Amino acid sequence: MSVYVHIPFCDYRCRYCNFVFETGWSPALLQKTLDAIVAEASRELERCTREGIEPRFHTLYLGGGTPGIIPPNQIVPFFSRLNDALGVSGSWQEVGFEVNPENVTPELLAELAEAGVNRLSVGLQSFSTERLQLLGRWCTRETNLRALELLSRHWRGSWSADLMTGLPGEAGGQGQTWRELKSDLETLLAFEPPHVSLYSLIVEPETALHSLISSKKLTAASAPMQDQLWLSAKSHLEHHGFEWYEISNFARPGNRSLHNPVYWRMDHWMGLGPGAEGNLVARDAKGEYRPLRTRNDRLFPWLTGGESARTEELLTAPEYLLEHFLTGWRTSDGLSATRLAQVFQNLPAHLELCLTDDQRLALNRHLEALPDFEAAELRPNWLVALQDLS
Ligand code: SF4
Repeated sequence: MSVYVHIPFCDYRCRYCNFVFETGWSPALLQKTLDAIVAEASRELERCTREGIEPRFHTLYLGGGTPGIIPPNQIVPFFSRLNDALGVSGSWQEVGFEVNPENVTPELLAELAEAGVNRLSVGLQSFSTERLQLLGRWCTRETNLRALELLSRHWRGSWSADLMTGLPGEAGGQGQTWRELKSDLETLLAFEPPHVSLYSLIVEPETALHSLISSKKLTAASAPMQDQLWLSAKSHLEHHGFEWYEISNFARPGNRSLHNPVYWRMDHWMGLGPGAEGNLVARDAKGEYRPLRTRNDRLFPWLTGGESARTEELLTAPEYLLEHFLTGWRTSDGLSATRLAQVFQNLPAHLELCLTDDQRLALNRHLEALPDFEAAELRPNWLVALQDLS
């Protein structure tokens, strides 16, 4: 069992972001939220017992929002209360914590290490102050470099840096080029990161970025340009000794994240905090899998609603299978017929997996675009899995 904790506060709203968070917060509201997360941990443990799951905890990740806004002197007490609520007495295999560069201070790093955090994820996104401003970020090239210098001097654990590709440009100007992205990668690699996450910028509906691009105040990167940037960055990182293991993730040998593959393998994870999703895969009395997806809504309904704010949805077998396919295809391991057979051994003998027309067209486009060697790796697994199931 892994645990994801969502800290729903940010100091500002990045133009591309559609996550669940609030920018108006006070120390009292933060404290109330941390207390509610600890209380939810106890309730979720009870839910596991009701579902017949005996969790052995493995990885913990604090994401957001911006976990780095938690004042350093509250970090150790919060982790200690969370561990008590979950009944964790030994150490976790991995405890990850997301920070924005402007939050990194020697005090925060010391408290995180003291609390047992052993992997930081730093959201740099770019080393271009101009591009960062277009994204609505408050950090600059200098803030990012300073954060990396502090990490080099004060952080002994593992860490990962996030960079974005396909960054927009001013109207009439140019979006991010490969030359710029390569320079960002080289600046980052000088700090010897054990892990790099490379995210293609997605222009989500109802974000400020979407309105700016729709009204032609900014220009977005085209899909072929995004693809080209990703392919070039992938070969650059591989050339520098990184292994690609998931669409956005690259690690030096021995430095893959332990937490994120839990989502890609669709193992159990507990979601705590508003905006956090959980996935508990229990079995019913007949031994059939019951994939239970739990969700929270926004901050205030969650703060006042207690257990009733977390909704439960029992996924149908085709929905769960489709998620397995989509997450499996994002990874270098691809889809595992063995894993599918383990998870879906008790599915009804005749399973119909239906896609909408849009989904089918998108899937077809992706399959056609796969180079032959990848298709050769993927298709036999896929076909064997389908044959096993039918
Ligand atoms: S700091 Fe992160 S969570 Fe907050 S608005 Fe920016 S991208 Fe979204």
